[in-house]
Parts: sequence; structure tokens; C-alpha cells
Amino acid sequence: MSPKDITILGCSSQQPTRHRNHGAYIVRWNDEGLLFDPGEGTQRQFIFANIAPTVVTRIFVSHFHGDHCLGLGSMLMRLNLDKVTHPIHCYYPASGKAYFDRLRYGSVYHELITVVEHPVKEEGLVHEDDNFIIEAKFLEHGIDNLGWRITEKDVRKFDKEKLLARGVRGPLVRTLEEQGSVDIEGDRVKLDEVSWIKKGDVLAVVIDTKYCKAAIDVAKDAKVLLCESTYLEEHRDLAESHSHLTAKQAAQIAKKAGVDLLILTHFSARYQDSRVFEEEAKKTFPNSIAAEDLKTIQFPK
Ligand SMILES: [Zn+2]
Ligand SMILES: [Zn+2]
Repeated sequence: MSPKDITILGCSSQQPTRHRNHGAYIVRWNDEGLLFDPGEGTQRQFIFANIAPTVVTRIFVSHFHGDHCLGLGSMLMRLNLDKVTHPIHCYYPASGKAYFDRLRYGSVYHELITVVEHPVKEEGLVHEDDNFIIEAKFLEHGIDNLGWRITEKDVRKFDKEKLLARGVRGPLVRTLEEQGSVDIEGDRVKLDEVSWIKKGDVLAVVIDTKYCKAAIDVAKDAKVLLCESTYLEEHRDLAESHSHLTAKQAAQIAKKAGVDLLILTHFSARYQDSRVFEEEAKKTFPNSIAAEDLKTIQFPK
């Protein structure tokens, strides 16, 4: 079975520390690799995390502050070096097109890979296929900055024992799925009698924003919310003046949105130990964890 997890490649904010690289997050899901906000050093963090960069299929840049995008050029070059044959889809706020271009072509190289750009002008649906629905919404950070909501498509699961008991085998399963029922020796088998719908999971990524309704909307009923918490409540004034969140505010967003798991990240370098964020958030939203570089977190079942 393919993995379904999030690996933290970095969890610092503007300034990295000895223990925290610039942010970047790789989500392995349904045979895809979704890379969010590749900051400086992302390429090397893949090596430490023991994940091949070639898993990347889509890259999301929330906004063009350096800590969220300065690793984009080197990641694209790395994928080029690895000669990936699948397209690399890149999503970013359309107003940042000039920055995207500079990062993509920041040095001399012969581009062989297929990069498909998706500059996002308006919020709402960005992409839909058989696996995923991708939606974006503008957050409040002083510049164009997108929160991402990735929804896995619902899938029908069959109960093998029930299929066997009713004599539905081989190509008949496909017929049943397509037609909704099949007749086997005078017995009508209905689709819902031998199968059920597994609801797709939702991942929400809210990075760099002040407290706002858009953040709650993006995270509504998500299985996992990856959310910035640059500060603690004791520095609420800084959070407000820099358009960031405290751990408590991130927890309030998680609670209002009804998410399953909150992962806190994007920590200010003023705090040495990231556990303090988790402690603060847990008072409001118990199922909170603080990101740590190279930590892999499974989607909750
Ligand atoms: Zn940032
Ligand atoms: Zn920012």
C-alpha cells in the first residue's frame, strides 16, 4: 500500500535555527508527492528524510516570502537532474508570477522536465481529477497568500466475503459497479449490499496568516490541518503586527473547523524548543502536535 503521510522537511519561519530548517513539507498520498512551500535547503532535507525527490508530482507555493519559495529553483533543477518523466504541476498566487519565473530560471540549466504552471488568480476550485480536488483561498498576510484544501475523492470499497457469498466474481464486479446491480441465477445483487463508500480525506494547509475566517473555511472538517503558529500567546502583539498566528489561535482555528489532527509549524527562531507550541495548543485543541524537522506523521485513521 502506498504511504499516506506528511514529512516535515523544515519548520522554521523566516530564520532557520540549528535544529529547524526553513519550512517545507512533503505529503505522500495516492501515489503522488505534494510538496508545500519549499524553503532554502529543501533538496538536502529530502536526503536526510530518506525520501527520493522524484516522488514530487505537485509543488504548492503559498506566497513569495523567501522562507516559502527560495528552494523552488533548486528543487526544479534537482528533478531535472533526476530526469523525471512525469509533469510537475506548480500552484502559486498569480500575482507572484515574476518571482516564480525568477526562481525557475535563476541559474543556467537546460530544462528537460515538464513544468505545468497553475497561477491562481481567483479562489475556489484549482484542479480536479480522479484522485484529488484542489481548492485555494486567500488568507490574510499582507501579500497574496493562499491556503490549500486538498480533498481525496470518495472511493467505493467492496466487501470480498459478501461478493463471494453472492457469487459475484471477476468481470461481474465491474458490471455491478457500472450498472448498480447484477442478476445471478435469479438473485438480484445490488451494489450497496456488497460495498460501501469510503469518504476521501481532506488535508488543509494554512501557512502565514493572521486569524481569519478564510483559514477556518479552508480547514473545515479536515483530517489534517498543517497550520502556522509562529508565536506563543505571550507574543500575541508580534503575531498581530506581523500577520501571523499564535499556537492558541491555530488551535482555535482547528477547533472551529472541526479537524482531526492539528500539526503546528513555522516557528519563530526566538523559541528554542518547539514543544512549547504543542503545550499551548493542546489547552484549546488536544489533538495538536508540533512539527519537528524530518518527522513523519501518518494521516489519522
Ligand atoms: Zn513565513
Ligand atoms: Zn510570509
